[in-house]
Amino acid sequence: MSQLEIQQHDAKKLAAGYKKSFRLVEILAIVTFWSLCLAIAVKAFPFHHTHPWLLVAALVSGFIFADFVSGFVHWMADTWGSADMPVLGKSLVRPFREHHVDQKAMTHHDYIETNGANCLVSLPVAAGVLFIPLNIEGWVSFSLYSFVTLGSMVFFVMWTNQIHKWSHLTEEQTPMVLKVLQKLHIILPPGHHQLHHSSPYDTYYCITTGWLNWPLAKIGFYRHAERFITAMFGLIPRRDDIGLKAALQIAPLVITEKTTALTQNP
Ligand SMILES: [Zn+2]
Ligand SMILES: [Zn+2]
Repeated sequence: MSQLEIQQHDAKKLAAGYKKSFRLVEILAIVTFWSLCLAIAVKAFPFHHTHPWLLVAALVSGFIFADFVSGFVHWMADTWGSADMPVLGKSLVRPFREHHVDQKAMTHHDYIETNGANCLVSLPVAAGVLFIPLNIEGWVSFSLYSFVTLGSMVFFVMWTNQIHKWSHLTEEQTPMVLKVLQKLHIILPPGHHQLHHSSPYDTYYCITTGWLNWPLAKIGFYRHAERFITAMFGLIPRRDDIGLKAALQIAPLVITEKTTALTQNP
């Protein structure tokens, strides 16, 4: 991969895309999100006497699902679209583009900038989970499992960016408790995550625990998904992130009329 002509965006321009006016929305999103999480915990709490192991299983399931969601969303943002797109470009794609050209930038972000966007996108799911009824006869175990799994998933999805940020701190900046959690691979270990930051940034997208990175890479999950999207829409994966030339060199292309046209008229 050393001969790849990777062309990335300017880090300063990308960093300037974060508007301070967005902070109020982020603060409101964080407060609302934590309130919804508290409401989910309060609703599930009475079941700790009757269904303790189901609660534990659902919490772990949610933790694992959160890792998958973190990888899937990260893959989407890294692979498709551009930072200039309306709404999603500025809020979702731009931070990921910036992160590839300046890994350390996120370590200077405060709690609000790190977690605001994640809280915002998680709000509808956190609010929706609260509507799951837990008192329908014959369905209590199933609905309780679904309720706690989704609640745990949305909670740990919110933690994703914070955990990701911790994986980019220096040895000296990392508190001992985080070092232990990273060493035990309960949260994303820095060395493991560096596999994603190796050119051409096309694998190991999961950034909560990273547990699913190896199995997803082994089954070629993202390559299959890219082939499918390229065949359907003629889009070239990673075109905006690493430039068309490098993107074409590594793209799992399915040549269709659309991709051929794009390749000839970039
Ligand atoms: Zn990435
Ligand atoms: Zn990273």
